[in-house]
Amino acid sequence: LRILGIETSCDETAAAVVERAVDGRPTVRSDVVLSQLEEHSAYGGVVPEIAARAHVEALDTLIDEALKRANVSLSDIDAIAATSGPGLIGGLLVGLMTGKAIAKASGKPLYAVNHLEGHALTARLTDGLAFPYLMLLVSGGHTQLILVRGVGQYERWGTTIDDALGEAFDKTAKLLSLPYPGGPAVERAAKSGNPDRFNFPRPLVGEAKLNFSFSGLKTAVRQAATEIAPLTEQDVADICASFQKAISRTLKDRIGRGLERFKSESLHVDGRPALVVAGGVAANLEVRSTLQSLCGKHGFRFVAPPLRLCTDNAVMIAWAGLERMATGVAPDDLDVQPRSRWPLDSNAETLLGFGK
Ligand code: ATP
Ligand code: MG
Ligand code: FE
Repeated sequence: LRILGIETSCDETAAAVVERAVDGRPTVRSDVVLSQLEEHSAYGGVVPEIAARAHVEALDTLIDEALKRANVSLSDIDAIAATSGPGLIGGLLVGLMTGKAIAKASGKPLYAVNHLEGHALTARLTDGLAFPYLMLLVSGGHTQLILVRGVGQYERWGTTIDDALGEAFDKTAKLLSLPYPGGPAVERAAKSGNPDRFNFPRPLVGEAKLNFSFSGLKTAVRQAATEIAPLTEQDVADICASFQKAISRTLKDRIGRGLERFKSESLHVDGRPALVVAGGVAANLEVRSTLQSLCGKHGFRFVAPPLRLCTDNAVMIAWAGLERMATGVAPDDLDVQPRSRWPLDSNAETLLGFGK
């Protein structure tokens, strides 16, 4: 099976061609991503209207490029997979409409893919991971701990009740006049900082529910910064290091409880249980090493796919489409609509029993 994937839910326009052999082995034939970072950097965040226009301008060329690099034409493709939510509605419309048009013109089936399902299933493409496993998605728009039981079978164990983790990095960077996107800038500054200078809050630590909260942390950063203003370079470094330490401590508690729950519910039948990380914040070395050591402590395998496939891309959308096809899930009708909000566990009921 060979599928064309399209991703336009946020600030990356992406197209990819992916194959799945009968034995389940994947081959990425092409993977094209155009980031809109420059378009948005002046505004310190993603501007939906600008994003939608940029998708319109880039997508057709990108799809051609993905087919060309894969050395195939549309007639060699078995299906089309396009992200239909969650995300910015303008971008979703562009990608899904394009997917529909190609499906209609070529007579190939269309799979309207949940962006989060793409993130959730990536580790099966990169590491051949077997179900079930835990997935932590930490990006600019999401912070979720999800139990991945099978294709279409997801249980959300925890989510942020306010800001996403990437968003907390971006807002903290903005407060400190660091460049956008904030994550890499905060990480860089933190290197020469003292993580013990500020004792920032670790919200929800100790709570039984596995949710996250990061807006209080951002407020604490603002207060600290205001109190000691004007900030020297060392102050900024210390704030960043202390901020990352607070996050690391929070993750240790929240995710540690998730790993315990996974074990206590005896979810894993054979082999070692696994935790997968996805999303742009997975690039952060402190976050990574925190998760890694946590996994070691709890006897979990830690799976971190290559960063290119952790951040937004079309390979994961194509792969999610292929997994659905392989599991016997029917394609979507061409009148399927994009959904700006679309929790991953809402589509579970229709697919129960698949993906064992
Ligand atoms: P979505 O949430 O829909 O997946 P997104 O574009 O916000 O979309 P990604 O592209 O996966 O998500 O990730 C971008 C986020 O990752 C930004 O918030 C950015 O600051 C953060 N990020 C990137 N690198 C780092 C890093 N080294 N440390 C911390 N955060 C980082
Ligand atoms: Mg992005
Ligand atoms: Fe994403």
